[in-house]
Amino acid sequence: MTETVQWVVETEDLTRIYGDGEEIRALDGVSLRVAAGEFVAVMGPSGSGKSTLLNMIGALDKPTGGKVFVGGQDLATIRNKDAFRSKTVGFMFQLHNLLPTLTAIENVEVPMMGYLKPKERHERAGHLLSLVGLADRMKHLPNQLSGGQRQRVAVARALANNPPLVLADEPTGNLDTEAGEELMGLLSELNESQGTTYIVVTHDPAVARQTNRIIVLEDGKIEREDIVNSPLEEDLKMWRHSDLGQRILNGDEEASQILGIPHTELETLKLVLKTNTQEAETG
Ligand code: ADP
Ligand code: MG
Repeated sequence: MTETVQWVVETEDLTRIYGDGEEIRALDGVSLRVAAGEFVAVMGPSGSGKSTLLNMIGALDKPTGGKVFVGGQDLATIRNKDAFRSKTVGFMFQLHNLLPTLTAIENVEVPMMGYLKPKERHERAGHLLSLVGLADRMKHLPNQLSGGQRQRVAVARALANNPPLVLADEPTGNLDTEAGEELMGLLSELNESQGTTYIVVTHDPAVARQTNRIIVLEDGKIEREDIVNSPLEEDLKMWRHSDLGQRILNGDEEASQILGIPHTELETLKLVLKTNTQEAETG
């Protein structure tokens, strides 16, 4: 059977240990896959390893053990990490990190320096700011913009070099509920219109529900995964007690072939079936 899914991110048994005396296992054997075009939320209590995971995927930090592949490339084999980051990954953080003395459009141009000529940079930055709804704020300085608008500039900046992947660490953390939901709505729109893959760390369940999949970390491990906003989900609720559903759960290859489920998606599907079954039993 041929692989139909293209993985943008793949981690294998990813581990990050901090400290030399008392060891802290910030990440403890995380294996996960994110397909092209997915919109994934990472949740979990403070200290559960969310930022560490994003830092590993974005090549900001090196794993103690295990592997990270981005776009099929093993990060351990990449020599020029800076070039990799500017071309492949867009970053967004809780604090926007915009340069205070540069205007919105200049901030968006910064990551394109060295890659595009000034005129092209300027045009692209203008286009991106229009895309995030800030066409009329291009020449404003960060302190002349609201928190939500500043995060929109940060979105435009993250998209500057048209990366296939955007990593956002609590981008709504400093925003009020309404601005937070607006920002997630924007990311969701961009995910659909541009096909960019998003991995977003958030504490807010309302924010997480706007994504396609929620990965929950606890003590550096994946505690569970939930698929949201999936048209499949409703179907799965019907299946969970069906003969077919049970056969898939029991690893019956033939049953999954009947449904044409790619091998690579089977584990996720089983997880969803299990989760739904548990929900039905407990409440
Ligand atoms: P989260 O983002 O989920 O709040 P982090 O990934 O920041 O969690 O941290 C996971 C664990 O690793 C925590 O126990 C934290 O204290 C520890 N940790 C993170 N960064 C470092 C570091 N640079 N040095 C030592 N310990 C760290
Ligand atoms: Mg964090």
